[in-house]
Amino acid sequence: MPVIDSFSLSNLASDVLINAGCSQETALKVANNLVVSNLKGHDSHGVGMLPRYIAAIKEDGLNIHATSKITKYNSPFISFDGQAGFGQVVGHEVIAEGIKQAKQHGFAITSLANAHHLGRIGAFAEQAADTGFLSIHFANVYTKPIVVPWGGVLPRFGTNPFCIGVPVKDQAPVILDFATSIIASGKARIAFNKGEALPSGYAVDPHGIETTDPRYLVQEPFGGLMPFGLHKGSGLSLICSLLGAALTGGLTERTAAPGKKAIINNMLSIIVDPKRLGGEKSFEYEIPELLAWVKQSHPESAALIPGENEREQYAWREKNGIDIDESTWSELQILIQ
Ligand code: NAD
Repeated sequence: MPVIDSFSLSNLASDVLINAGCSQETALKVANNLVVSNLKGHDSHGVGMLPRYIAAIKEDGLNIHATSKITKYNSPFISFDGQAGFGQVVGHEVIAEGIKQAKQHGFAITSLANAHHLGRIGAFAEQAADTGFLSIHFANVYTKPIVVPWGGVLPRFGTNPFCIGVPVKDQAPVILDFATSIIASGKARIAFNKGEALPSGYAVDPHGIETTDPRYLVQEPFGGLMPFGLHKGSGLSLICSLLGAALTGGLTERTAAPGKKAIINNMLSIIVDPKRLGGEKSFEYEIPELLAWVKQSHPESAALIPGENEREQYAWREKNGIDIDESTWSELQILIQ
């Protein structure tokens, strides 16, 4: 399996995007975002997404020149249309505006409809946390649904990600960031590429029968993924569609047509100045104390705080390189020719 350093992988990814007609600035932004996902251990949202992005561009489902457009301005509530632009570009713009509003008002609520794939949602929580703001994000995925609701048989949800970022004084932020499906669908793609089976209880075939074969998430006829956390994850997935899309004017999974290459995300973000709530003392003292106490649950601090795993992976992969599965590697080689 090829092992590539992050710098070379970023160059390769931006070359692929420039080949597809992107400006250098956009290519660098998107490439860096994808490689950071690889570095953080989320290959599901790394450079392996590029073949799908390029297919979406060719199909006119991803607008490589689009920026975000304000559709409703009622500060500190602001609605945006992502105009099917790169999520890495339009999402960053929306959160930047949210931070600007939160600085003024103590909070902001932004909605972003019709963005192309937003990638790792944690990137937006990190963007807010870097400037001292707490943020909460609910997103849905407007593609053919692939997640079966608890108690259902047919898929009705996207892998609808949910994310919260909490800044911590003089420490890395807490970043809880996950798909509400039992695994992100890209993880099934990677298992398929590597010829690995999924753990039991993760997926169903087109008839709703349990399967460990990842092909049903990658090739027709499609089956589905289960939600995480039984009925609770299923409920949160629904909330992501309700808040991320239905409430904000975005499209819900209900009308997504099969076979499209574009992955459209809609996202509601709530950005808050944490000092406006419990006050500076609680923010500066109680949060780090609580985190330290949670870590002491294991004598060797083996219990991880959300976000810690990604930081550990980042440090390891930055030093040792990123292993890219063979299928992704050959797809990327074709795209730079
Ligand atoms: P995951 O199952 O790896 O869970 C990640 C979360 O769990 C992180 O907050 C991580 O810090 C925490 N975590 C991991 N190991 C831990 C441990 N041992 N103890 C405590 N906390 C731990 O993530 P996932 O569901 O595979 O999602 C991966 C990425 O996919 C996320 O970044 C998500 O935003 C992204 N995603 C995006 C979309 C989209 O449409 N844009 C859709 C689904 C998922």
